[in-house]
Amino acid sequence: MISREKAKKNICRIIDEESSRIIKIGEDILRMPEKGFQEFKTSAYVQECFGKEGIPFRSGLAVTGVRADLGGGSKGPRIALMGELDALSVPEHPFADVETGAAHACGHNAQLSGMLGAAIGLKRSGVLEHLAGSISFMAVPAEELNDMNYRLDLRKKRKISFMSGKQEFIKIGCFDDIDMAIMIHGSEGRGAGVSESYNGFLFKVSRFTGRAAHSAASPHLGVNALQAASLALSALNAQNETYLDEERARIHSIFEIPSAAVNVVPAGVVMETQVRASNVESILGASKKADRALKAGALALGAKVAIQTIPGYMPTIQNKGLIEIYRQNVIPFIPGQKFYFNPPKASSTDMGDVSQIMPAIHPYMGGWKGSPHGRNFEVTDKNLAYVVPAKVLALCAIDLLWDKAGQAMSILRETKPALTKKRYLEIQEKNFNRSLYDYSR
Ligand SMILES: [Zn+2]
Ligand SMILES: [Zn+2]
Repeated sequence: MISREKAKKNICRIIDEESSRIIKIGEDILRMPEKGFQEFKTSAYVQECFGKEGIPFRSGLAVTGVRADLGGGSKGPRIALMGELDALSVPEHPFADVETGAAHACGHNAQLSGMLGAAIGLKRSGVLEHLAGSISFMAVPAEELNDMNYRLDLRKKRKISFMSGKQEFIKIGCFDDIDMAIMIHGSEGRGAGVSESYNGFLFKVSRFTGRAAHSAASPHLGVNALQAASLALSALNAQNETYLDEERARIHSIFEIPSAAVNVVPAGVVMETQVRASNVESILGASKKADRALKAGALALGAKVAIQTIPGYMPTIQNKGLIEIYRQNVIPFIPGQKFYFNPPKASSTDMGDVSQIMPAIHPYMGGWKGSPHGRNFEVTDKNLAYVVPAKVLALCAIDLLWDKAGQAMSILRETKPALTKKRYLEIQEKNFNRSLYDYSR
């Protein structure tokens, strides 16, 4: 029986030997950015990597998702090491797809090289026989919540029931046999750390309908849907002062005017809104307020508004035990840097949904510059961005499952998940609803 330290050294050596391949995986995926639930090339690429290593996998999960499994020498908890498949629309990014505008401006390409690098290391090192439990490697679709029409269409065709990859993975049972989940997200700088939590949110698609008329000759015959939507936006902004600081409410919208001409009174405007806050109660409260604002815009102009509410992500609970294991394993790779503990963030991730039903973490790893979702978010240190996450994921798995999985078992004993899967699905399914307010008569 080798020592845990020896096993950890071995795996780091193997991952170092494979580092040029792991970097190539990250850079190849950078050059094939695809939007959520459309990551077909990326999914095929991930499957090929598992296939080359002889790691059995399942594909086509939630459209493009992949899950591979490696068993340890004895029974124990099952840990998911995860990476996200999707890019997002940032057409001005230097590696954007010229046709779709999709770009890896959130660094999910490095999540996949990290997850695959960990799989390669764990498979080749022979460490698995010393572990009590097993490891699932998941490539999950569609973390970025956008392209709502495309996803609603997939839902109509019954290809998905939820709008994001991890939500759908939960629904279809991909997490049913999983006890805890870990992923690492790329971040600016050279350090590593964790944010205390992330907001949750609901998504709204509001369709304002008015009546077209000549903008100059006969605006009195028209009903201006753009004015209605603008008033709704002003009302949402006016509500901002009604939130407590700790609710961290962030309500933000965009407009789309499907057929617009400046000399026609706009008859149809689609407004998308994300209603974010720190806890479920505040999200539901903010959602009700937002509906009032949307109705107010339509009421003032005598328009109609159809509000479709769609479940967004749940607030993220970062598991303290997993944070500590991540911290210990990442520190040797960030010399001269302090592991940071950031305050709660107003942004959101569907890792939040996973974190409601099992211990989970969504920490950061540096090696990037610029701002996430910006045109300038790019890798500056390929080793830190692509290779170190592979090592740290593998090292965390070893720590958790070593010695009869003592550390994993103690985390499971100390963590009571906020929700069962059943309750989680009930809440999220209830968050799908639509209502129509017609003030045109
Ligand atoms: Zn993102
Ligand atoms: Zn991201």
